[in-house]
Amino acid sequence: MSKNLDTINHHESVVRSYIRNFPTVFTKAKQHKMWDEDGKEYLDFFSGAGALNYGHNDDHMKEKLIEYISSDGITHSLDMASTAKAEFLEKFDDVILKPRDLDYKVMFPGPTGTNTVESALKLARKVTGRTDIISFTGGFHGMTIGSLSVTGNSMKRQGAGIPLQNTVTMAYDNYVDHDTIVYLERFLEDSGSGVAIPAAMIVETVQGEGGINAARFEWLKQIEEICRRWGILLIIDDVQAGIGRTGSFFSFEAAGIKPDIICLSKSLSGYGLPLAVTLIKPELDIWKPGEHNGTFRGNNHAFVTATAALDYWKDESFEKEIHEKSELIYNFLEKIVTDYPEIKGEVRGRGFMIGIASEVEGLAEKITARCFKLGLIMETAGPNDEVFKLFPPLNIPKDELQKGLDIIEESVKDLVK
Ligand code: PMP
Repeated sequence: MSKNLDTINHHESVVRSYIRNFPTVFTKAKQHKMWDEDGKEYLDFFSGAGALNYGHNDDHMKEKLIEYISSDGITHSLDMASTAKAEFLEKFDDVILKPRDLDYKVMFPGPTGTNTVESALKLARKVTGRTDIISFTGGFHGMTIGSLSVTGNSMKRQGAGIPLQNTVTMAYDNYVDHDTIVYLERFLEDSGSGVAIPAAMIVETVQGEGGINAARFEWLKQIEEICRRWGILLIIDDVQAGIGRTGSFFSFEAAGIKPDIICLSKSLSGYGLPLAVTLIKPELDIWKPGEHNGTFRGNNHAFVTATAALDYWKDESFEKEIHEKSELIYNFLEKIVTDYPEIKGEVRGRGFMIGIASEVEGLAEKITARCFKLGLIMETAGPNDEVFKLFPPLNIPKDELQKGLDIIEESVKDLVK
């Protein structure tokens, strides 16, 4: 056992979880590779659960950050104006919002994913004057009380130790063969039903933690229509599915919907630094100064790397590249499912947010454990960890991607043959 691992196990609270699946101490990482203290090299098909979509220590972002730090660029400024913030906002508008014909105000809710979700839920309630939020089975939105209250995972919810209130959980698309959203509308139409009009619905277009469940575009459109009819605000949580994971910058683009509020974090800084934004339609910008603040809203180092990361999106070549590689992954996974019927697998997901759900109890965890031994880092997802989830960085070279896929096949072969 490593001394460093001992130290961490001894001092850190037992709540840590990833250390169980990846029991080593990492020292260094570059692009799609990580190294541990024994010098063992790993391919990273985990990407910090979607926080490293451009890989580790991207050269362009690193250069900009070093330049900024060397010139004593401002580090912490609360929400005072800084050049780093202005440059980020301008480029985000030029490269991301304007070309997609999207008109949103940018709010900095706090450093992480759960902060953007909290701000979205709070703002939706303030704007509508209503209480309830509709969320979906299998949804994951964060660990603070508000975001946990809309998270559809009973184990996580039990972490609060009390009932979490003012949310209504409906079945996510493809969980059932009938559409519960239609029932919701019947309840709303019936004044005697006692069901109050909710403030908002919060949806992931592809559920990450919930098991790589991809909603159909028609279902997303249907949800948007219901929201419009009833004046319910549509919140898309793109914390995990956003920033290119599904093939386009925002995950909802392909479905052709326009949310009222968008939650972004994870890969927004591009460099693994904490940064979150809540994008809100301009008419929702009603909070008075100070009604939502916090010490670490907008980290200037993260602004610098986030601005550099936007260079990936300046033309369409990056999206094309993601698309080509995701086809390679999809075809490979389909072949695994066909060639190894013993795993009773089903390919799920979109783009680079993809995995195989196995009906064989415990198999996905065994596969990821075997992959780890063979030098590939991958995690499981879903309520019973039944999905092994592929999350390589979006810019991984094709031959390195193939190496990782070969390790997956080898692991599957080892386990079923
Ligand atoms: N929303 C989604 C969809 C997520 O996947 C996560 C994190 N896995 C969060 C919110 C919460 O983000 P954070 O862990 O940064 O608070």
